[in-house]
Formats: sequence, C-alpha cells, structure tokens
Amino acid sequence: MERKTRVRFAPSPTGPLHMGGVRTALYNYLFAKQRGGDFIIRIEDTDSQRFVPGAEKYIIEALNWCGIVPDEGVDASGNVVETASERHPHAPYRQSQRKPIYRQYAEQLVEGGFAYYAFDTAEELGAKRAEMEAAGETFIYGQTTRMGLRNSLSMPEAEWKELLETRTDWTIRFKMPENRVVEMDDLIRGHVEVNTSTLDDKVLWKRADELPTYHLANIVDDHLMEITEVIRGEEWLPSLPLHYLLYEAFGWTETQPRFAHLSLLLKPDGKGKLSKRDGDRLGFPVFPLKWVNAEGEVSRGYREDGYFPEAFVNLLAMLGWNPGNDQELFTLDELVQAFSLERVVKSGARFNADKAKWFNKEYLRKKSVAELTDLYMPVLESKGVTGFSREYVEKVVTLIQERATFVADFWDIASYLFVAPKTFVEKDAAKFWKEENYTLALKVADFILAFEGEFTKENLEGPLEEYIRSNEWPMGKVMNCLRLALVGASSGLGIADIVTLIGKDEFARRIEYIKATL
Ligand code: GLU
Repeated sequence: MERKTRVRFAPSPTGPLHMGGVRTALYNYLFAKQRGGDFIIRIEDTDSQRFVPGAEKYIIEALNWCGIVPDEGVDASGNVVETASERHPHAPYRQSQRKPIYRQYAEQLVEGGFAYYAFDTAEELGAKRAEMEAAGETFIYGQTTRMGLRNSLSMPEAEWKELLETRTDWTIRFKMPENRVVEMDDLIRGHVEVNTSTLDDKVLWKRADELPTYHLANIVDDHLMEITEVIRGEEWLPSLPLHYLLYEAFGWTETQPRFAHLSLLLKPDGKGKLSKRDGDRLGFPVFPLKWVNAEGEVSRGYREDGYFPEAFVNLLAMLGWNPGNDQELFTLDELVQAFSLERVVKSGARFNADKAKWFNKEYLRKKSVAELTDLYMPVLESKGVTGFSREYVEKVVTLIQERATFVADFWDIASYLFVAPKTFVEKDAAKFWKEENYTLALKVADFILAFEGEFTKENLEGPLEEYIRSNEWPMGKVMNCLRLALVGASSGLGIADIVTLIGKDEFARRIEYIKATL
C-alpha cells in the first residue's frame, strides 16, 4: 500500500537557523505539499549542553515568516500543532518531552545483540586515547578496541550486571558489525556503499541523563512518526550507514524512509561552506531573521534587511534546485507544483548576494502601491516626516517603485519629495550652477510659476520642454539646474513629476533657497 508522504524538518535548538537550514525545511515542505502529504517539525533537543534559549522560538518564527507552516509540530508559542488521528498519535514533537520512549528501544537492541552496555569512565577513555595516540594510532571505540574496554561484551556477566545496578554513568553503544558493506540509496546521490570497518560504536543512550543521543532518537522518532522521506543536509551522510543498520537491527527496513542529502550552500567565490562570518565580511545576511546571542552580538537577518519573505523563499529554492527551464520567479505555490528532488543538484550551490537583491527588486516591482505604501508609512514616521496624506505617499511610491530594491531605498531615492534639500552636492553644483545656466533656469522657473493650468505632469511636461526648446536653451543643463534646486543633486525624477508633487509654493521656496545659498 502506498504510504502517505510524511517528511520532517528536525532542527536542534542550538542557535539561530542558518539560511541553509531554512532551505532544508523549504525542500521538505515543497516535497510534502506536492504530494498532498504532511510536513512535520520535530525539535531535536536531547543535547542539553548545546541547548540555546530562544533558538526554538527563533526557528519556528523564521519558518513562519517564510510561509513554511507545519501540519504537525510546535508553533512559535511552543504549542503543539497536530493533524494526526487518535489512532496515530505522534505528539509530543520535542524530543526532550519524549524522554521515556527511548530507553526500551535501546534495551531492545542490547537484547537482540545489536548493542551493549559500556562502563568506561571519561578518565578511562581519555587514558586509552592518550596511550594509543602515543603509539601513533587514533582511538575509536569500536570493533578493534571494544574487547579491551569495559563493557558487557568484554566483562563477565555477573560483573557488568552489578555495575548496571550500582552505577549511573553507563551508556548503551551500538555494536558496529565487522567488515560489512552497507549498501545505501540516496535520492540525490544515487547508490552509495560504505564498509563498516572504519565506523565506531556510537553511543545510543546515556544512563546519566536517561536521554538518547541524536542517532537513536532520530531513528526511533522517524519510525514512530511514520516518516517516508528524510531530506536533510549532507553533513549527515556519514551517519547514513549507522542509520541503515539501526533500521535493520530494529526490524524496520520495510518502512524505512528514503533518504535525500542536500549539498551545502557555498561562499560567493565557491570556496567552502557559507558561514556566518562571510555574511558579516561581505555584507549580506546569512540568517532569515536578526539574531542577538547571549553576548549581545547581533547578526543581521533577511527580514530586518528589508527582504520580502516571498523573495527570500524564491532565492533559497533556486540555490540548489532549478526547474529545467528559464523561469526564475516562483511563488511558494508555484514551487510546490514545480519542485522535484530529481532536479536538486549534487554539487554545492554558490550564494550570490547580487542575485539575492535582484529577487527582492523583482518582488518589489510586483507589489501593489497600496502594500508598499503601508510598508513605507512607518519608515517616513521614523524619519520624523509627518503631514503628508496617504494619497501623496502613494503617488511618490508609484513614481519610484521601479527604481528601488528595498522599501528602505524609497527614502534614499526621493526623500526630497518630503523634505527640501538644505545642501547641494558639491560636484553637481560646480558643474551645473553656472551663471550662463542658472539665469536660463530661473526664467524657466518663472515660466512654471506663471503656468495657469492645473499642475499635473501631463499638463506641465510638454509646455515646459517646448518653452526651453523654442528658446533654443540647452535642455540638459537647464533641467539639471532646476533639479539641483529641487533635489539637491543633478540626479532624480523628472522636473514635471517633482513640481507636480511638491506643488507651486514649495517649488517657489526651493528656488528662493538655492538663489540665496549658491
Ligand atoms: N537534528 C539534526 C540537525 O540538527 C537533524 C538531522 C536529520 O534531519 O536527521 O540537523
């Protein structure tokens, strides 16, 4: 029987989610939604030493911002989201809350001969490691060393059974089979084979905190949560042989999920993994949202940098996947339709900050003036600009929408539509504010002030240009003088546009100001 597609994103709350992590979540989400399946968020928080307060909330908030909402899991307030029927209860979704589940599974493996109890203390293991390293060897707890260590394979039964009762610092380790070739299939990488001879006996469960390690909890939960595909980062590929062997040891191979390991996101120059430091160094965010760590250090986020979530999702989707044609712009719904693991690349995907901005510019162009105005009003307020109607701001937005990459650019592009320039760009003034030009420009200003029709771009633009042309005055020089007066620089919108917006009185004031100043 075909099983319902169920995939999970399983972050460990050890810090903010890197953009590569968001991409993993996104690909899982797209895969599930395309197949009418479930997307689950499971919090893998069994490593209390690496737990970072606030990280879980951050992760869920970041995914929500992207529109990646789970069918099952936890929400940003920490509550359970669940669609599963009573027959298949899957909650809780935080592994720390599933603590009582795991011990029986670890013990089941011991009983079956697939795992064993280990009693070595940290000091004993340290001494063994030092001894082997002094002899030029590397220490791994595994097939070549386990019989010389303190565990239920090497010790007499009566002895280890007593330690099991009296000590509280033992662990259960997986007994890696000797010299076996594990054959694995990856949906992106194809067939992979690994010989077990180099693999160690991983700890699965610890008596000290009665918690499983990642490997055990991950396999048990994927099984209990009826996960059909595991889509995760390639840093987990080395763990795949162990995961295959765990499914086999539990007798769960029939329902074992299929695996897909995603390649890394690479630095802009293609040399190595994209790291947090690259963002700071090269001036782009690597996190979806701003993050402040315990030391108060701030890492910038796409959201706070002014990216639209749709643009962020789109650019992430294209980092490592392509639709097989030229289309670059996809909404989340379109991605759900178009996505396929077959078109996910095996090689690393190089991050390009300019391309990221390009995506945002494209989305900004598509936004409605009303929505952009909603976003721009608070920016104006933060600049101390008041007294302009919404209608006015909408007109400004209409004029500059095409020129901006971010909403914040609106201010840099056209703050002069709200506040008069008080200074003039020196080199522009030197170039254009010359007597032979400005005497003509001031005549044009008089023409504008005397203009009797209604002040609209359509009414004004033609007569204005006609007036300059018929006098055979140099159009560019004259216009740039006027622009200097209105903008403070020789670049900016068309004169008719500016005059129409700021109105006759403000126009007159700015002309008077430049006359008195330059
Ligand atoms: N908790 C693991 C992580 O943080 C999950 C790996 C997996 O998806 O199996 O990446």
